[in-house]
Amino acid sequence: MTHLQGIAASNGIAIAKVYRLEAPDLSYSKNEIQQPDQEVKRLHDALDVSKSELEKIKAHTLETLGQEHADIFSAHLLVLSDPELIKPIEDKIKTENVNAEAALDETADLFINMFKNMDNEYMKERAADIQDVTKRVMAHLLNVTFPDPALINEEVVIVADDLTPSDTAQLNKQYVKGFTTDIGGRTSHSAIMARSLEIPAVVGTKDITAKAEKDSLIIVDGIDGNVIVNPSEEDIQSYKEKQADFDKQKQEWAKLKDEATVTSEGEHVELAANIGTPEDVEGVLANGGEGVGLYRTEFLYMGKNQLPTEEEQYDAYSSVLKQMGDKPVVVRTLDIGGDKELDYLDLPDEMNPFLGFRAIRLCLERDDIFRVQLRALLRASVHGNLKIMFPMIATLDEFRQAKGILDEEREKLLSEGMEVAGDIEVGMMVEIPSTAVIARQFAKEVDFFSIGTNDLIQYTMAADRMNERVSYLYQPYNPAILHLVNNVIEAAHAEGKWAGMCGEMAGDEIAIPILLGLGLDEFSMSATSILPARTQIRNLSKKELASFKKELLSMGTAEEVVAFIKEKTESQ
Ligand code: PEP
Ligand code: MG
Repeated sequence: MTHLQGIAASNGIAIAKVYRLEAPDLSYSKNEIQQPDQEVKRLHDALDVSKSELEKIKAHTLETLGQEHADIFSAHLLVLSDPELIKPIEDKIKTENVNAEAALDETADLFINMFKNMDNEYMKERAADIQDVTKRVMAHLLNVTFPDPALINEEVVIVADDLTPSDTAQLNKQYVKGFTTDIGGRTSHSAIMARSLEIPAVVGTKDITAKAEKDSLIIVDGIDGNVIVNPSEEDIQSYKEKQADFDKQKQEWAKLKDEATVTSEGEHVELAANIGTPEDVEGVLANGGEGVGLYRTEFLYMGKNQLPTEEEQYDAYSSVLKQMGDKPVVVRTLDIGGDKELDYLDLPDEMNPFLGFRAIRLCLERDDIFRVQLRALLRASVHGNLKIMFPMIATLDEFRQAKGILDEEREKLLSEGMEVAGDIEVGMMVEIPSTAVIARQFAKEVDFFSIGTNDLIQYTMAADRMNERVSYLYQPYNPAILHLVNNVIEAAHAEGKWAGMCGEMAGDEIAIPILLGLGLDEFSMSATSILPARTQIRNLSKKELASFKKELLSMGTAEEVVAFIKEKTESQ
């Protein structure tokens, strides 16, 4: 039995066997061969297995993510049947007497480099397709497993060094009962997605991949961050009981689904949800969300080979707005970069991706991409209660430029005779300390703020949100963070604006009373945190919490803050 402690990333208990998701070792040696025909046959066998796998993945993707994502696999299947690629591989085997692995790799490389260097987006995408499919064929030639989360058809817990957001998006909840990783933090995007998918997860265990063998039994306790490999009968029993208690607790919370979120003195605060796709709206409504406080639109751009068109975006935004009716929906414009990559944009690797060319920085330079999104949003605005916000604003000039482009697109649409809602609020995320410090100046020009603590904490504390080794510095309750948050809320209120929070801190049990006391207007969180938060807020007095503000802000450490707030709320 092995016990590991990690970071509890998504509530719930999973007990199932280990499925290791790891990049396969595709190294090979180049050999001279004697029987070219046999080698060509090996190649075709590998191509055939790859094709049948891709057909299955395509069917699964069509069912879960829709036509557009399934089209990627149609493109992959075309590559595998393309004589322009396959014939030169066969020729190489026959004329140079080399093994299929070498012929495949060298020929594919030639095409990949040729397509990559063409000044044509379509051809660049073909390069990516060839790269993807050759890896699969190579794995079959070498007889090594090529892991496909989409093909899992039995109950498992995924064990990986890390999971990318697109790996996470592919997970099938029916079979994937939980996951656990070596690296990552509570605010890495795969952790955030696990919470939307309601898959129990423990991240940042440091060495689960070294401890958990394929097919061994594993328990993932996403409530307290425990992972047990090869558990005893006793452990299994006690974790089953823990799961049953958690289910009972969820039923209690569910009673408040249609109740108002009011403090003990009857003051309303808004509890909204963070979403990544239109499909997530169902969970928001099922959990009694009063709005969408953050729609991370970048997932529309990820897991595919090209930019989404204006029409695709219009459909996604309209779908969210219609499902939410007159409830507010805050859509954040594209925030790519950091741990969210878009391979097809072919951006150079950076030393510090979280501090690099990302989000609004990219959108202001690539305004061709930005304008398409803004047009889609403006057109969709007639279907509901849309608010738009820009991510990663560092300077007032950036906000003005982004808003200027939005206004230009609005004018263009109106002059084309299109309808656009007249009252769209335009706000910004506060996630870079520079904006929190001079929030007063920003408050004069924005309609609202949404505080992105996931990034604000990492930038203020200089502690990478993805790095479990510095997670002790990632301190939401550090007085420095509380000062910045307070500054933003005061600035908004002084200018008659509202301030929300869409970072994970907004749904945190210890942070909620603090934020309530500081006067936060809107709390936006994972849908599954809404009901526990509503339960908690109904027992808190905002007035009393507000009276502690000065004392809280004068504290020296996060520990003091936590001890103080615990003492005060226990007595409420
Ligand atoms: C944040 O930074 O707090 C935030 C909500 O944005 P993301 O987690 O997508 O970076
Ligand atoms: Mg952010």
